[in-house]
Amino acid sequence: MNETTKEETLDPEDWETMRALGHRAIDDAVDFLASVRERPAWRAVPDEVAAHFQSPLPLEPEGAERAYTEFTETILPYPMGNVHPRFWAWYMGNGTFTGALGDFMAAIMNPNLGGGSHAAYKVEEQVLEWIKEIAGYPPEASGLLVSGGSMANLIGLAVARNVEAGFDVRAEGLHGSPKPMVVYGSTEVHSCNQKAAELLGLGGRGLREVAVNRDFTIDVSRLEEAIAEDRAHGRQPIAVIGSAGTVNTGAVDDLNALADLCEREGLWFHVDGAIGAVARVAPQNGHLLAGIERSDSVALDLHKWLHVPFEAGAVLVRNAEAHRRTFSAIPEYLEHTARGLAGGENWFNEYGPQLSRGFRALKVWLSFKEHGMRKFGRLIDQNIAQAQLLARTVRDHAELQMMAPVGLNIVCFRYCPSGGEEQDGADIEIDEVLNQLNQELLIRLHESGVAAPSYTTLHGHYCLRAALANHRTRVEDLQIFIDEVVKIGRELSAVTKHP
Ligand SMILES: *Cc1c(COP(=O)(O)O)cnc(C)c1O
Repeated sequence: MNETTKEETLDPEDWETMRALGHRAIDDAVDFLASVRERPAWRAVPDEVAAHFQSPLPLEPEGAERAYTEFTETILPYPMGNVHPRFWAWYMGNGTFTGALGDFMAAIMNPNLGGGSHAAYKVEEQVLEWIKEIAGYPPEASGLLVSGGSMANLIGLAVARNVEAGFDVRAEGLHGSPKPMVVYGSTEVHSCNQKAAELLGLGGRGLREVAVNRDFTIDVSRLEEAIAEDRAHGRQPIAVIGSAGTVNTGAVDDLNALADLCEREGLWFHVDGAIGAVARVAPQNGHLLAGIERSDSVALDLHKWLHVPFEAGAVLVRNAEAHRRTFSAIPEYLEHTARGLAGGENWFNEYGPQLSRGFRALKVWLSFKEHGMRKFGRLIDQNIAQAQLLARTVRDHAELQMMAPVGLNIVCFRYCPSGGEEQDGADIEIDEVLNQLNQELLIRLHESGVAAPSYTTLHGHYCLRAALANHRTRVEDLQIFIDEVVKIGRELSAVTKHP
């Protein structure tokens, strides 16, 4: 072989400069996290910074150091905020330093977890065994790490559909369907389940949303009626989705009652445990999840209450063979061998839609080993106790009003200058002035950088919503938050002249 042209590579010319850059990045990362409390919970990206992201495709090299420096100047100072101790918006984890190291080293090793025989594969298998323990699933169940709850619910419901359809959905599609299939959840079920129903060909109306009780848990007798009604109308009920922590208020459906009902009715029982499934390991609150271990499939999120850096979720399926049958496709170029690189019985690409898959298992493995599951359990209890304390503070304040019972770690309330009894919102009149006041209050609160809760609307009432899935939150943070809410609320009500 003759050398004709100079060959190129993406490796650096000098590994020592890359080592120095790597050390600098570690220093920046530690500084960033160690000082997080001193920075605002959120701040807007200034226009002149945003303008950086309008440049054309770079054709010539800038070099790693320059690109990295631009990152530290224009990106790193404007995080979403979920690393901050007073961030309680939507439902997110904080991440951990070790989790981030896991992501870094996973990318350095850069394996593909679609299949093959290599150590990373063993790590994901190990992590899945641990997750089965967390959820109370038997070892013979199957599982898969996925991007998050949305993908986990989609996969669980895909298996449910294929098992319950009564015909070969993979071969026929839904053209083979004699009757429209129906999946049930409460009106509080997460919207990703709606997307799953659409993608699975059931249609948006294929997810029937059943009314909730006053505590926002599914009304099981209404569910039973809905199933009977659908059967009477020639539809085919196939599955019930139980919510183990709803996104609005953290309500946990009566999972044992749903498991009983699914047994009686011959339906697949899927649990959306994106929020609450992991709370099963919490010594004081784990009992709230009773019944989750009876489900046929469960979706969990690891990047929420277990603080694994995004993205990390998992799905478990009790019937491993049904799981594999839903996704397995083995063309000649993916056949497994008895020995060698292509060894191994169960390739993960047979358990979900993705072929190429990243090594997200490493950050999970490192996090679990670093801290031990008992600590994660205590942290979950800590957040639930903080949520209850926050709720008490709201109840005791003359200008604040609770808007829903605290489910797990989620507190919904509003500023209400005339005060107001705690109520579940169903019975009081919708007050547009108060709704607008609280909307503006939330935006000003975000802009103040003091705290970052989010919002929701319950029974037409706009609420501030704090989801305390945060391992950095301290009790003092709750008081800082409440003080700022009341301060902004008073400023706003002085100008809106609310009665
Ligand atoms: C967050 C959430 C989801 C979606 O999970 P992602 O990880 O964001 O994909 C599903 N269900 C519930 C209850 C959630 O809170």
